[in-house]
Amino acid sequence: MSGETLLELRGLSVFYGPVEAVHQVQLNVQAGEIVTVIGPNGAGKTTLLSAAMGLLPSKGEIRLDGERIAKPSVEGMVSRGLGLVPEKRELFGEMSVEDNLLLGGFSLWRKGQRDQNARMEEVFAIFPRLKERRAQMASTLSGGERQMLAIGRALMAKPRLLMLDEPSLGLAPLIVKEVLQVVASLRNHGVSVLLVEQNARAALKVADRAYVLEMGSVALSGKASDLLGDKRIIETYLGIG
Ligand code: ATP
Repeated sequence: MSGETLLELRGLSVFYGPVEAVHQVQLNVQAGEIVTVIGPNGAGKTTLLSAAMGLLPSKGEIRLDGERIAKPSVEGMVSRGLGLVPEKRELFGEMSVEDNLLLGGFSLWRKGQRDQNARMEEVFAIFPRLKERRAQMASTLSGGERQMLAIGRALMAKPRLLMLDEPSLGLAPLIVKEVLQVVASLRNHGVSVLLVEQNARAALKVADRAYVLEMGSVALSGKASDLLGDKRIIETYLGIG
């Protein structure tokens, strides 16, 4: 199942009061793709994901499976197969790994406990370390494990497209590599990925395509390998990371 457009943003603009934080962004993610949005601090990456998830009002078009979403809402986006792992991870520290996962499976509740448990086993297959630590409190996990739990929790709702906001933030380089490799492997589980990263080099290594966001606009886009291989582009845009 590849080649179909899952998510498309057409001329998307997002305002904070009078300030335009995201300007006329054109972006798409095809089924089976890993797409990254890179760019410096304050470029508008988080704002873009929040708007796509229906967390912020926007102008322009958000389209899922070729259909324009007239009134984007988080509930609506989740039910249509979109998931978001926020930058702050927002785990429940005083709750176990397992309970954090079950909260992510909220939308499966209606279908019964068996669906939730079956889904949790699928998530454990992707993150075996979470299974080992299923009874442990989230606050006692390492940084990498917490990020994996945040991703696992979002996967509980069975998204077809997972958007991740800087999963590498605050992690040691070796752990960044490990987390991003797991992110890239999600496509083997039928999940496409839109990955926001400041760690441009690491993101480009796992992505198929990339968009460079600068001051709210797409400054550049293309195949990740082309961007990684172009010295001029690396010097101009990818000095960080
Ligand atoms: P970072 O990597 O630092 O999170 P980013 O690329 O995700 O950066 P955003 O957080 O989306 O960037 O911010 C884009 C712009 O919007 C910045 O100028 C920021 O100051 C502004 N901004 C973000 N959130 C708000 C808010 N709640 N109210 C007003 N302005 C905001």
